[in-house]
Amino acid sequence: QQQDQRAERIPRYVRVNTHEWTAKEAIASYTSKGFTLSGPFESSKGFCSDEHIPNLLQFAPRTLFHDDEAYNSGKVILQDKASCFPAAILDPPASDAAVVIDATAAPGNKTSHLSALMGNRGKLYAFERDRRRFSTLTKMLSNAQCKNVSPVNADFLTVDPLDPSYASVTHILLDPSCSGSGIVNRMDYLVEQESENETEQADRLQKLAKFQLLMIKHAMKFPSVHRIVYSTCSIHAIENEHVVRDALKSDEACTNNFRLAPRDQVLPTWPRRGLPGEMDDPDLAASLVRCAPGEDATNGFFVSCFVRSVSDASSSG
Ligand code: SAM
Repeated sequence: QQQDQRAERIPRYVRVNTHEWTAKEAIASYTSKGFTLSGPFESSKGFCSDEHIPNLLQFAPRTLFHDDEAYNSGKVILQDKASCFPAAILDPPASDAAVVIDATAAPGNKTSHLSALMGNRGKLYAFERDRRRFSTLTKMLSNAQCKNVSPVNADFLTVDPLDPSYASVTHILLDPSCSGSGIVNRMDYLVEQESENETEQADRLQKLAKFQLLMIKHAMKFPSVHRIVYSTCSIHAIENEHVVRDALKSDEACTNNFRLAPRDQVLPTWPRRGLPGEMDDPDLAASLVRCAPGEDATNGFFVSCFVRSVSDASSSG
């Protein structure tokens, strides 16, 4: 019951796939189909542009897109607003020389968003370890006309950061498996919650956090990477602030000079930030983005961004 009420406060988000058309064209098309530019809660046919994410539209929560030609042909992608934050914050370059990794790609919403931000230029490696999900990923990328993506059916943790193919990778997106506890209406999570006792839940979250930390530390080993975004759709600090806190203290971060990107590089106009009490340095919470399920008109979400700082020695030498 509580889940349904929260879902009613989340618009149906539609990201315009700029490989195929523009937001202006999309707005004209939906207007011609009887939608009105007002707002997602004004009427069942209301819609508007999102204020934080370019090319994202908001429709009324119950709007259906199964029969929408633009949706079926990949011209628009149904993607929650918060799930658009990671690619926007990673901000990959749109150049022929760009080399970017999406380490955990299926079903491919963020991969296709990255590809769009890169203007279909450069190279985007998209790793996915699960074979069935990999197949979904390749279909999605083909439908969305993503031409700069090389999908790879492999475990990112087995990829050698020193392989010459990845020598020029500058940006990595990490959106690994998580508890999914931020997803409104996720019935399997509710069942898990009911059937698990506190110890079992703590164990499961610990295991996830350990894996998530490994993924960040692995990404930090790529020699040219200077920006890594780590995100989850979890509400638990153990998968979010605590993983970031431990990553910052790791040998990989220290050796390679990684720190958190300052707030002005991490969606600065978004008001809800990390939980200060869960960080060693509470001031760093301002660099983190959180979304509270339902309350922020999104699902629950967390985003962090690590950047490699140029040391004094190398900048003066
Ligand atoms: N970023 C995706 C999107 O927006 O569509 C969602 C990613 S989902 C949260 C996590 C994905 O990572 C799953 O498909 C899972 O199979 C995959 N995965 C988990 N561990 C992995 C690993 N070590 N290497 C590659 N893929 C992995």
